[in-house]
Amino acid sequence: MPLKIALAGIGKIARDQHIPALIASAEWELAATVSRHATGVDGVEAFDDFNAMLKARPDIEVVSLCMPPVPRFAYAKAAIRDGRHVMLEKPPGATLSECHALEAMAREAGVSIYATWHSREAMMVAQAKAWLTGKILHSLVVTWKEDVRKWHPGQTWIWEAGGLGVFDPGINALSIVTEILPDPIHIATSELFIPENCETPIAANLTFTHPHGAQVSAELDFRKEGDQFWNIAIETDQGSLELSEGGATLSINGETQTAASSDNALQGEYPRLYANMARLVRGRTIDMDLSPMAHVADAFLLGKRISVEPFIE
Ligand code: NAP
Repeated sequence: MPLKIALAGIGKIARDQHIPALIASAEWELAATVSRHATGVDGVEAFDDFNAMLKARPDIEVVSLCMPPVPRFAYAKAAIRDGRHVMLEKPPGATLSECHALEAMAREAGVSIYATWHSREAMMVAQAKAWLTGKILHSLVVTWKEDVRKWHPGQTWIWEAGGLGVFDPGINALSIVTEILPDPIHIATSELFIPENCETPIAANLTFTHPHGAQVSAELDFRKEGDQFWNIAIETDQGSLELSEGGATLSINGETQTAASSDNALQGEYPRLYANMARLVRGRTIDMDLSPMAHVADAFLLGKRISVEPFIE
């Protein structure tokens, strides 16, 4: 039997990724949508109030929350308290403490909760991780530079406190780094470039401390026009690796790699996320890895603020 799921927050990512992934999956039945603006999906029951959906549809076991991070906690809490399993878009919340609280609530209620990191499901990430195992890291450089006007049109929440600014995409890079690196790292220095009229950074430069002294850094920039970069370049004692296009492309010692046949079983980041969620729900387990978010929190804690020209969309 497919698992019944309600999708809440019907914006860009819900329409671009969640809805197509759910409709294509035999494991899932998109049973309801919740949108404050009553935009839904043809043939699927639409609600404009989350609590009304919970009350009207006790048959729906799982909710997937696609709204921005700041309002997400209240929805997740209501769902868990009502005995539903919860899938969270990235970042899983606005603060680490509220994510810990959600995990504790889920454990107490006996439901699954999943902090998703879609970039970890990019096609070549698992192969990059496997190649790095047992090698000595010399350096890792993240270059995540995109045009915010192109990818996030009209998303004013990104510039408000809790919206993360350039860390909204930058946390995707950190989700890959924390997945593929065998050793834990932590932020050593952070520079945050904040437009005069915004509450969040438009660019950030980070350096990290690595336990064996490797040079690890990240350059994140939302102001990049023209070519866009979502790259992670790594040097080791046994050669170099470059993940590009957000983890979709991998080259090792300059040679482009093809996906292993097992990686092709389920195409796409979001189909894989939903397959993971189905496994968690069926096993009543929890996946709440907050390590990418901890780096972002530390970048804000240690961040040297540098004021830059106002951002006008
Ligand atoms: P979005 O289109 O700006 O917003 C998503 C939806 O959230 C809105 O359409 C709205 O849905 C709901 N919403 C907005 N503000 C709300 C509030 N204050 N309270 C309750 N609901 C609210 O954003 P998005 O790009 O889809 O991003 C949403 C989340 O997905 C973010 O955490 C983002 O990091 C993540 N994400 C985005 C992308 C991307 O490429 N855009 C990729 C991966 C992950 P209703 O009008 O239906 O209520």
